[in-house]
Amino acid sequence: MSKTIIVSNRLPISLQHKNGKFEFKPSAGGLATGLGSIYKEGENIWVGWPGNDVADEEQRNEIVDELKKLKMAPVFLTKKDVELYYEGFSNETIWPAFHYFTQYINYEDSYWEAYVRVNQKFCDTILAKANPEDTIWVHDYQLLLLPMMLRNHLPNATIAFFQHIPFPSYEIIRMLPWRKEMLEGMVGSDLIGFHTYDDMRHFLSSVGRILGLSNESGFIQADNRLINVDAFPMGIDYEKFSKAAESKKTLNHVKKFKEMLGDQKLLITIDRLDYSKGIPQRIKAFTQLLEDHPEFHGKVSMIMVVVPSRDKVRSYQVLKEEIDTLVGGINSKFSTLNWVPVHYFYRSFPFNELSAFYTMSDIALVTPLRDGMNLVCKEFVASKTHKKGVLILSEMAGASKELVDAILVNPNNQEGVVNAIVEALSMDEEEQELRISSMQSSLKKYDIFQWVKVFMDRLKHVKERQTELE
Ligand code: UDP
Repeated sequence: MSKTIIVSNRLPISLQHKNGKFEFKPSAGGLATGLGSIYKEGENIWVGWPGNDVADEEQRNEIVDELKKLKMAPVFLTKKDVELYYEGFSNETIWPAFHYFTQYINYEDSYWEAYVRVNQKFCDTILAKANPEDTIWVHDYQLLLLPMMLRNHLPNATIAFFQHIPFPSYEIIRMLPWRKEMLEGMVGSDLIGFHTYDDMRHFLSSVGRILGLSNESGFIQADNRLINVDAFPMGIDYEKFSKAAESKKTLNHVKKFKEMLGDQKLLITIDRLDYSKGIPQRIKAFTQLLEDHPEFHGKVSMIMVVVPSRDKVRSYQVLKEEIDTLVGGINSKFSTLNWVPVHYFYRSFPFNELSAFYTMSDIALVTPLRDGMNLVCKEFVASKTHKKGVLILSEMAGASKELVDAILVNPNNQEGVVNAIVEALSMDEEEQELRISSMQSSLKKYDIFQWVKVFMDRLKHVKERQTELE
Protein backbone atom coordinates (compact mmCIF):
# COMPACT_ATOMS: atom_id res chain seq x y z
CA MET A 1 0.00 0.00 0.00
CA SER A 2 1.34 3.41 -0.87
CA LYS A 3 1.27 6.24 1.63
CA THR A 4 1.42 10.03 1.56
CA ILE A 5 4.27 12.00 3.09
CA ILE A 6 3.84 15.70 3.81
CA VAL A 7 7.09 17.64 3.97
CA SER A 8 7.66 21.17 5.22
CA ASN A 9 10.53 23.04 6.82
CA ARG A 10 8.76 23.08 10.20
CA LEU A 11 6.71 20.29 11.69
CA PRO A 12 3.27 21.46 12.85
CA ILE A 13 4.26 21.39 16.51
CA SER A 14 6.31 23.40 18.94
CA LEU A 15 8.69 21.55 21.17
CA GLN A 16 9.57 22.76 24.64
CA HIS A 17 12.10 21.31 27.02
CA LYS A 18 10.66 21.49 30.54
CA ASN A 19 11.93 19.81 33.73
CA GLY A 20 14.14 17.45 31.77
CA LYS A 21 11.30 16.33 29.48
CA PHE A 22 10.06 17.41 26.07
CA GLU A 23 6.56 18.80 25.65
CA PHE A 24 4.90 18.81 22.26
CA LYS A 25 2.32 21.45 21.46
CA PRO A 26 0.48 20.96 18.16
CA SER A 27 0.22 23.97 15.85
CA ALA A 28 -3.26 25.40 15.44
CA GLY A 29 -2.45 27.04 12.08
CA GLY A 30 -4.85 26.62 9.17
CA LEU A 31 -2.41 24.70 7.00
CA ALA A 32 -1.65 22.20 9.78
CA THR A 33 -5.39 21.69 10.27
CA GLY A 34 -6.05 21.28 6.56
CA LEU A 35 -3.21 18.83 6.07
CA GLY A 36 -4.31 17.00 9.21
CA SER A 37 -6.90 15.32 7.03
CA ILE A 38 -3.97 13.72 5.19
CA TYR A 39 -1.09 12.92 7.50
CA LYS A 40 -3.24 11.56 10.30
CA GLU A 41 -4.69 8.87 8.02
CA GLY A 42 -3.32 5.33 7.69
CA GLU A 43 0.46 5.06 7.32
CA ASN A 44 0.87 8.68 6.25
CA ILE A 45 3.37 10.95 8.00
CA TRP A 46 4.65 14.54 8.14
CA VAL A 47 8.41 15.12 7.86
CA GLY A 48 10.06 18.35 9.02
CA TRP A 49 12.30 20.19 11.43
CA PRO A 50 10.93 20.19 15.00
CA GLY A 51 12.24 23.75 15.48
CA ASN A 52 14.80 23.10 18.22
CA ASP A 53 18.51 22.60 18.31
CA VAL A 54 18.91 19.09 19.73
CA ALA A 55 22.47 17.76 19.66
CA ASP A 56 22.21 15.00 22.29
CA GLU A 57 21.69 11.55 20.75
CA GLU A 58 19.52 10.30 23.61
CA GLN A 59 17.28 13.35 23.41
CA ARG A 60 16.99 12.94 19.67
CA ASN A 61 15.84 9.34 20.12
CA GLU A 62 13.27 10.46 22.68
CA ILE A 63 11.92 13.05 20.22
CA VAL A 64 11.81 10.51 17.37
CA ASP A 65 9.75 8.14 19.57
CA GLU A 66 7.36 10.82 20.78
CA LEU A 67 6.85 12.29 17.32
CA LYS A 68 6.15 8.85 15.90
CA LYS A 69 3.04 8.73 18.08
CA LEU A 70 1.92 12.00 16.42
CA LYS A 71 2.66 10.59 12.92
CA MET A 72 5.62 12.89 12.45
CA ALA A 73 9.29 12.29 11.67
CA PRO A 74 11.93 14.89 12.50
CA VAL A 75 14.78 16.22 10.41
CA PHE A 76 17.34 17.47 12.94
CA LEU A 77 19.15 20.64 12.01
CA THR A 78 22.31 21.92 13.64
CA LYS A 79 22.71 25.51 14.81
CA LYS A 80 24.84 26.14 11.71
CA ASP A 81 22.18 24.63 9.42
CA VAL A 82 19.54 26.93 10.89
CA GLU A 83 21.78 29.96 10.61
CA LEU A 84 22.84 29.37 7.00
CA TYR A 85 19.99 27.43 5.37
CA TYR A 86 16.99 28.87 7.22
CA GLU A 87 17.88 32.35 8.43
CA GLY A 88 20.40 32.66 5.61
CA PHE A 89 19.39 31.35 2.19
CA SER A 90 15.67 30.95 2.89
CA ASN A 91 15.05 34.22 4.70
CA GLU A 92 17.84 36.48 3.45
CA THR A 93 18.06 35.34 -0.16
CA ILE A 94 14.86 33.72 -1.39
CA TRP A 95 12.41 35.68 0.79
CA PRO A 96 13.53 39.18 -0.27
CA ALA A 97 14.02 38.14 -3.91
CA PHE A 98 10.60 36.50 -4.22
CA HIS A 99 8.91 39.50 -2.56
CA TYR A 100 10.67 41.96 -4.92
CA PHE A 101 12.91 43.44 -2.20
CA THR A 102 16.05 43.05 -4.27
CA GLN A 103 17.98 45.52 -2.08
CA TYR A 104 17.83 43.01 0.80
CA ILE A 105 19.05 39.95 -1.14
CA ASN A 106 22.14 38.40 0.39
CA TYR A 107 24.16 36.59 -2.29
CA GLU A 108 26.19 34.35 -0.04
CA ASP A 109 27.76 31.14 -1.34
CA SER A 110 27.91 29.61 2.14
CA TYR A 111 24.12 30.11 2.43
CA TRP A 112 23.58 28.30 -0.85
CA GLU A 113 25.89 25.43 0.13
CA ALA A 114 23.94 24.97 3.37
CA TYR A 115 20.65 25.13 1.45
CA VAL A 116 21.77 22.25 -0.79
CA ARG A 117 23.07 20.29 2.21
CA VAL A 118 19.88 20.70 4.25
CA ASN A 119 17.59 19.88 1.30
CA GLN A 120 19.70 16.70 1.00
CA LYS A 121 19.16 16.02 4.72
CA PHE A 122 15.41 16.21 4.18
CA CYS A 123 15.78 13.92 1.17
CA ASP A 124 17.74 11.34 3.19
CA THR A 125 15.16 11.33 6.00
CA ILE A 126 12.35 10.83 3.49
CA LEU A 127 14.19 8.11 1.56
CA ALA A 128 14.58 6.14 4.78
CA LYS A 129 10.77 6.11 5.08
CA ALA A 130 9.41 6.20 1.52
CA ASN A 131 8.37 3.37 -0.77
CA PRO A 132 8.85 3.73 -4.54
CA GLU A 133 5.16 4.35 -5.22
CA ASP A 134 4.47 6.80 -2.39
CA THR A 135 3.03 10.29 -2.74
CA ILE A 136 5.20 13.10 -1.38
CA TRP A 137 3.87 16.64 -1.03
CA VAL A 138 6.64 19.17 -0.44
CA HIS A 139 5.81 22.62 0.91
CA ASP A 140 7.42 25.95 0.29
CA TYR A 141 10.51 27.91 -0.57
CA GLN A 142 12.87 26.35 1.97
CA LEU A 143 12.74 23.09 -0.01
CA LEU A 144 12.89 24.04 -3.68
CA LEU A 145 15.58 21.45 -4.44
CA LEU A 146 13.87 18.56 -2.74
CA PRO A 147 11.46 17.42 -5.50
CA MET A 148 14.30 16.63 -7.94
CA MET A 149 16.49 15.11 -5.22
CA LEU A 150 13.61 12.75 -4.44
CA ARG A 151 12.83 12.09 -8.10
CA ASN A 152 16.41 10.93 -8.73
CA HIS A 153 15.92 8.15 -6.19
CA LEU A 154 12.20 7.51 -6.59
CA PRO A 155 11.45 7.83 -10.32
CA ASN A 156 7.92 6.42 -9.95
CA ALA A 157 6.84 8.33 -6.87
CA THR A 158 4.10 10.93 -7.06
CA ILE A 159 5.75 14.22 -6.06
CA ALA A 160 3.97 17.54 -5.59
CA PHE A 161 5.20 20.97 -4.59
CA PHE A 162 3.29 23.98 -3.32
CA GLN A 163 4.82 27.40 -2.92
CA HIS A 164 3.22 29.57 -0.24
CA ILE A 165 5.03 32.79 -1.15
CA PRO A 166 4.94 34.72 -4.44
CA PHE A 167 6.87 33.56 -7.48
CA PRO A 168 8.40 36.68 -9.00
CA SER A 169 9.00 37.76 -12.55
CA TYR A 170 11.86 36.25 -14.57
CA GLU A 171 13.63 39.63 -14.21
CA ILE A 172 14.11 38.86 -10.50
CA ILE A 173 14.82 35.15 -10.83
CA ARG A 174 17.58 35.82 -13.35
CA MET A 175 19.45 37.84 -10.72
CA LEU A 176 20.06 34.78 -8.57
CA PRO A 177 23.32 32.92 -9.32
CA TRP A 178 21.60 29.62 -8.44
CA ARG A 179 18.46 30.20 -10.57
CA LYS A 180 18.97 27.15 -12.78
CA GLU A 181 19.47 24.73 -9.90
CA MET A 182 16.46 26.14 -8.06
CA LEU A 183 14.13 25.67 -11.02
CA GLU A 184 15.56 22.23 -11.79
CA GLY A 185 14.80 21.26 -8.22
CA MET A 186 11.17 22.29 -8.57
CA VAL A 187 10.55 20.45 -11.84
CA GLY A 188 11.24 17.15 -10.11
CA SER A 189 7.54 17.44 -9.18
CA ASP A 190 4.52 16.10 -11.06
CA LEU A 191 2.35 18.99 -9.88
CA ILE A 192 3.53 22.49 -8.90
CA GLY A 193 1.06 24.81 -7.23
CA PHE A 194 1.02 28.54 -6.54
CA HIS A 195 -1.52 30.82 -4.90
CA THR A 196 -2.23 32.92 -7.98
CA TYR A 197 -2.31 32.77 -11.73
CA ASP A 198 0.37 35.51 -11.89
CA ASP A 199 2.81 33.41 -9.80
CA MET A 200 2.18 30.48 -12.08
CA ARG A 201 2.78 32.57 -15.21
CA HIS A 202 6.03 33.93 -13.80
CA PHE A 203 7.22 30.43 -13.00
CA LEU A 204 6.37 29.11 -16.46
CA SER A 205 8.16 32.03 -18.06
CA SER A 206 11.32 31.42 -15.99
CA VAL A 207 11.25 27.70 -16.70
CA GLY A 208 10.93 28.50 -20.39
CA ARG A 209 13.76 30.99 -20.48
CA ILE A 210 16.19 29.40 -18.03
CA LEU A 211 15.57 25.68 -18.51
CA GLY A 212 14.31 25.89 -22.11
CA LEU A 213 11.14 23.97 -21.20
CA SER A 214 8.02 25.18 -22.95
CA ASN A 215 4.51 24.65 -21.70
CA GLU A 216 1.08 24.14 -23.12
CA SER A 217 -1.71 25.46 -20.89
CA GLY A 218 0.36 24.81 -17.77
CA PHE A 219 1.63 21.39 -18.85
CA ILE A 220 5.39 20.95 -19.26
CA GLN A 221 7.01 17.94 -20.87
CA ALA A 222 10.36 17.25 -19.17
CA ASP A 223 12.44 14.08 -19.39
CA ASN A 224 9.45 12.17 -20.70
CA ARG A 225 7.48 13.26 -17.67
CA LEU A 226 4.40 15.47 -17.81
CA ILE A 227 4.39 18.22 -15.18
CA ASN A 228 1.36 20.33 -14.39
CA VAL A 229 1.63 23.87 -13.01
CA ASP A 230 -1.44 25.69 -11.74
CA ALA A 231 -2.90 28.18 -9.27
CA PHE A 232 -4.55 26.84 -6.12
CA PRO A 233 -5.44 29.80 -3.86
CA MET A 234 -5.26 28.58 -0.28
CA GLY A 235 -8.30 28.97 1.95
CA ILE A 236 -8.73 29.21 5.71
CA ASP A 237 -10.51 27.08 8.28
CA TYR A 238 -13.61 29.20 7.75
CA GLU A 239 -15.81 27.52 10.31
CA LYS A 240 -13.21 27.93 13.04
CA PHE A 241 -13.27 31.72 12.64
CA SER A 242 -17.00 32.12 12.12
CA LYS A 243 -17.79 29.88 15.10
CA ALA A 244 -15.23 31.62 17.32
CA ALA A 245 -16.78 35.00 16.50
CA GLU A 246 -19.97 33.89 18.23
CA SER A 247 -18.35 32.01 21.07
CA LYS A 248 -18.69 33.06 24.69
CA LYS A 249 -14.93 33.40 25.11
CA THR A 250 -14.57 35.80 22.18
CA LEU A 251 -17.66 37.81 23.11
CA ASN A 252 -16.37 38.24 26.67
CA HIS A 253 -13.16 39.66 25.28
CA VAL A 254 -15.09 41.94 22.92
CA LYS A 255 -17.13 43.31 25.82
CA LYS A 256 -14.06 43.91 27.93
CA PHE A 257 -12.04 45.53 25.11
CA LYS A 258 -14.94 47.75 24.02
CA GLU A 259 -15.43 49.02 27.54
CA MET A 260 -11.78 49.99 27.65
CA LEU A 261 -11.78 51.66 24.23
CA GLY A 262 -15.08 53.48 24.49
CA ASP A 263 -17.30 54.43 21.57
CA GLN A 264 -15.12 54.78 18.51
CA LYS A 265 -14.50 53.23 15.10
CA LEU A 266 -11.77 50.63 15.11
CA LEU A 267 -9.28 49.74 12.43
CA ILE A 268 -7.41 46.49 12.84
CA THR A 269 -4.03 45.61 11.36
CA ILE A 270 -2.30 42.30 12.11
CA ASP A 271 1.02 41.20 10.63
CA ARG A 272 4.23 39.42 11.36
CA LEU A 273 7.06 41.92 11.52
CA ASP A 274 8.17 41.92 7.90
CA TYR A 275 9.21 44.52 5.35
CA SER A 276 6.85 42.90 2.83
CA LYS A 277 3.85 43.86 4.97
CA GLY A 278 4.04 47.63 4.41
CA ILE A 279 3.64 48.52 8.10
CA PRO A 280 5.46 51.91 8.02
CA GLN A 281 3.51 52.95 4.89
CA ARG A 282 0.27 52.12 6.70
CA ILE A 283 1.14 54.19 9.77
CA LYS A 284 2.05 57.07 7.46
CA ALA A 285 -1.31 56.80 5.70
CA PHE A 286 -3.13 56.80 9.05
CA THR A 287 -1.08 59.83 10.11
CA GLN A 288 -2.10 61.64 6.93
CA LEU A 289 -5.74 60.73 7.56
CA LEU A 290 -5.59 62.41 10.97
CA GLU A 291 -3.76 65.41 9.53
CA ASP A 292 -6.28 65.92 6.70
CA HIS A 293 -9.40 65.00 8.68
CA PRO A 294 -9.49 66.51 12.15
CA GLU A 295 -13.14 65.43 12.34
CA PHE A 296 -11.90 61.89 13.02
CA HIS A 297 -9.82 62.84 16.05
CA GLY A 298 -11.10 61.00 19.08
CA LYS A 299 -13.47 58.99 16.84
CA VAL A 300 -11.18 56.45 15.17
CA SER A 301 -8.28 54.41 16.41
CA MET A 302 -6.11 51.66 15.06
CA ILE A 303 -5.27 48.41 16.83
CA MET A 304 -1.93 47.36 15.41
CA VAL A 305 -0.62 43.87 16.19
CA VAL A 306 2.93 43.18 15.05
CA VAL A 307 4.03 39.62 15.72
CA PRO A 308 7.79 39.34 16.37
CA SER A 309 9.61 37.54 13.58
CA ARG A 310 13.18 36.92 12.32
CA ASP A 311 14.56 39.30 14.93
CA LYS A 312 18.13 38.17 14.29
CA VAL A 313 18.07 39.54 10.73
CA ARG A 314 19.38 43.10 10.51
CA SER A 315 16.71 44.43 8.11
CA TYR A 316 14.01 43.26 10.55
CA GLN A 317 15.69 45.03 13.47
CA VAL A 318 15.86 48.25 11.44
CA LEU A 319 12.20 47.88 10.50
CA LYS A 320 11.20 47.40 14.14
CA GLU A 321 12.95 50.64 15.06
CA GLU A 322 11.25 52.47 12.20
CA ILE A 323 7.81 51.25 13.30
CA ASP A 324 8.49 52.20 16.95
CA THR A 325 9.50 55.69 15.84
CA LEU A 326 6.47 56.18 13.58
CA VAL A 327 4.02 54.99 16.25
CA GLY A 328 5.72 57.25 18.77
CA GLY A 329 5.38 60.12 16.30
CA ILE A 330 1.66 59.72 15.54
CA ASN A 331 0.68 59.05 19.16
CA SER A 332 2.68 61.92 20.61
CA LYS A 333 1.26 64.27 17.99
CA PHE A 334 -2.44 63.43 18.24
CA SER A 335 -3.15 61.67 21.55
CA THR A 336 -5.44 63.29 24.11
CA LEU A 337 -6.00 62.22 27.68
CA ASN A 338 -8.88 59.98 26.60
CA TRP A 339 -7.85 58.95 23.08
CA VAL A 340 -4.80 57.25 21.55
CA PRO A 341 -4.69 56.91 17.73
CA VAL A 342 -2.61 53.70 17.58
CA HIS A 343 -2.79 50.85 20.09
CA TYR A 344 0.44 49.09 19.22
CA PHE A 345 1.34 45.56 20.36
CA TYR A 346 4.63 43.90 19.50
CA ARG A 347 3.59 40.37 20.43
CA SER A 348 1.21 37.61 19.45
CA PHE A 349 -2.24 37.04 20.93
CA PRO A 350 -4.14 33.91 21.96
CA PHE A 351 -6.72 32.79 19.44
CA ASN A 352 -9.85 34.12 21.17
CA GLU A 353 -8.37 37.57 21.69
CA LEU A 354 -7.43 37.65 18.01
CA SER A 355 -10.96 36.58 17.17
CA ALA A 356 -12.26 39.40 19.39
CA PHE A 357 -10.13 41.92 17.48
CA TYR A 358 -11.54 40.70 14.17
CA THR A 359 -15.10 40.64 15.47
CA MET A 360 -15.14 44.09 17.06
CA SER A 361 -13.21 46.01 14.37
CA ASP A 362 -15.08 48.08 11.81
CA ILE A 363 -12.30 48.04 9.25
CA ALA A 364 -9.37 45.74 8.52
CA LEU A 365 -6.45 47.49 6.88
CA VAL A 366 -4.43 44.82 5.09
CA THR A 367 -1.89 46.60 2.93
CA PRO A 368 1.18 44.45 2.25
CA LEU A 369 3.62 45.69 -0.39
CA ARG A 370 3.78 42.06 -1.50
CA ASP A 371 2.18 38.92 -0.04
CA GLY A 372 1.85 35.40 -1.42
CA MET A 373 -1.71 35.10 -0.15
CA ASN A 374 -2.41 36.81 3.23
CA LEU A 375 -4.70 34.96 5.57
CA VAL A 376 -5.45 37.79 7.99
CA CYS A 377 -7.86 39.42 5.52
CA LYS A 378 -9.71 36.13 5.03
CA GLU A 379 -9.93 35.54 8.78
CA PHE A 380 -11.38 39.04 9.27
CA VAL A 381 -14.10 38.41 6.68
CA ALA A 382 -14.94 34.99 8.14
CA SER A 383 -15.30 36.55 11.60
CA LYS A 384 -17.94 39.04 10.44
CA THR A 385 -20.92 36.86 11.22
CA HIS A 386 -23.12 39.98 11.53
CA LYS A 387 -21.96 41.09 8.07
CA LYS A 388 -20.82 44.53 9.23
CA GLY A 389 -17.29 45.58 8.44
CA VAL A 390 -15.09 46.74 5.59
CA LEU A 391 -11.94 45.17 4.26
CA ILE A 392 -9.29 47.41 2.71
CA LEU A 393 -6.92 45.13 0.84
CA SER A 394 -3.69 45.62 -1.07
CA GLU A 395 -3.66 44.68 -4.74
CA MET A 396 -0.25 43.14 -4.04
CA ALA A 397 -1.70 40.40 -1.80
CA GLY A 398 -2.57 37.12 -3.51
CA ALA A 399 -5.93 37.26 -1.70
CA SER A 400 -6.92 40.34 -3.72
CA LYS A 401 -7.51 38.09 -6.73
CA GLU A 402 -10.33 36.40 -4.83
CA LEU A 403 -11.61 39.11 -2.50
CA VAL A 404 -12.64 41.54 -5.20
CA ASP A 405 -15.39 42.96 -3.00
CA ALA A 406 -12.82 44.50 -0.68
CA ILE A 407 -11.77 48.11 -1.24
CA LEU A 408 -8.63 47.38 -3.23
CA VAL A 409 -5.68 49.76 -2.89
CA ASN A 410 -2.14 50.20 -4.09
CA PRO A 411 -0.21 50.30 -0.79
CA ASN A 412 2.38 52.67 -2.28
CA ASN A 413 -0.31 55.22 -3.01
CA GLN A 414 -0.66 56.94 0.35
CA GLU A 415 -3.41 59.27 -0.84
CA GLY A 416 -5.30 56.27 -2.20
CA VAL A 417 -5.08 54.44 1.14
CA VAL A 418 -6.30 57.55 3.00
CA ASN A 419 -9.25 57.83 0.60
CA ALA A 420 -10.02 54.14 1.09
CA ILE A 421 -10.15 54.60 4.87
CA VAL A 422 -12.49 57.58 4.46
CA GLU A 423 -14.68 55.53 2.09
CA ALA A 424 -14.72 52.62 4.57
CA LEU A 425 -15.61 54.88 7.49
CA SER A 426 -18.60 56.25 5.60
CA MET A 427 -19.81 53.09 3.87
CA ASP A 428 -23.47 52.41 4.56
CA GLU A 429 -24.43 49.15 6.23
CA GLU A 430 -26.29 47.80 3.24
CA GLU A 431 -23.16 47.96 1.09
CA GLN A 432 -21.04 46.48 3.87
CA GLU A 433 -23.42 43.54 4.06
CA LEU A 434 -23.40 42.99 0.31
CA ARG A 435 -19.63 43.00 0.12
CA ILE A 436 -19.02 40.87 3.21
CA SER A 437 -21.66 38.31 2.20
CA SER A 438 -20.21 37.92 -1.25
CA MET A 439 -16.67 37.42 0.10
CA GLN A 440 -17.91 35.05 2.78
CA SER A 441 -19.64 32.80 0.29
CA SER A 442 -16.44 32.21 -1.67
CA LEU A 443 -14.28 31.79 1.46
CA LYS A 444 -16.76 29.31 2.88
CA LYS A 445 -16.79 27.26 -0.30
CA TYR A 446 -13.03 27.27 -0.92
CA ASP A 447 -11.86 26.65 2.63
CA ILE A 448 -8.62 24.94 3.60
CA PHE A 449 -10.16 21.46 3.41
CA GLN A 450 -11.42 22.10 -0.09
CA TRP A 451 -7.97 23.42 -1.05
CA VAL A 452 -6.32 20.19 0.09
CA LYS A 453 -8.92 18.12 -1.74
CA VAL A 454 -8.68 20.04 -5.02
CA PHE A 455 -4.88 19.85 -4.95
CA MET A 456 -4.78 16.13 -4.20
CA ASP A 457 -7.45 15.38 -6.82
CA ARG A 458 -5.40 17.24 -9.42
CA LEU A 459 -2.28 15.36 -8.45
CA LYS A 460 -4.08 12.10 -9.02
CA HIS A 461 -5.37 13.35 -12.35
CA VAL A 462 -1.85 14.38 -13.50
CA LYS A 463 -0.53 10.95 -12.59
CA GLU A 464 -3.31 9.30 -14.58
CA ARG A 465 -2.55 11.47 -17.60
CA GLN A 466 1.12 10.52 -17.35
CA THR A 467 0.20 6.84 -17.42
CA GLU A 468 -2.08 7.36 -20.42
CA LEU A 469 0.78 8.99 -22.32
CA GLU A 470 3.28 6.24 -21.59
N1 UDP B 1 -1.63 35.11 13.90
C1 UDP B 1 -1.52 34.41 15.10
N2 UDP B 1 -1.35 35.10 16.26
C2 UDP B 1 -1.27 36.45 16.30
C3 UDP B 1 -1.37 37.16 15.09
C4 UDP B 1 -1.56 36.45 13.90
O1 UDP B 1 -1.58 33.19 15.09
O2 UDP B 1 -1.11 37.02 17.39
C5 UDP B 1 -1.86 34.35 12.65
C6 UDP B 1 -3.05 34.83 11.85
O3 UDP B 1 -4.25 34.33 12.42
C7 UDP B 1 -2.74 34.28 10.48
C8 UDP B 1 -1.22 34.19 10.45
O4 UDP B 1 -0.78 34.50 11.77
O5 UDP B 1 -3.29 33.00 10.28
C9 UDP B 1 -0.57 35.16 9.47
O6 UDP B 1 -0.70 34.64 8.18
P1 UDP B 1 -0.58 35.53 6.88
O7 UDP B 1 -0.76 34.64 5.68
O8 UDP B 1 -1.52 36.68 6.93
O9 UDP B 1 0.91 36.12 6.92
P2 UDP B 1 2.34 35.39 7.06
O10 UDP B 1 2.77 35.68 8.46
O11 UDP B 1 2.15 33.94 6.78
O12 UDP B 1 3.23 36.09 6.08
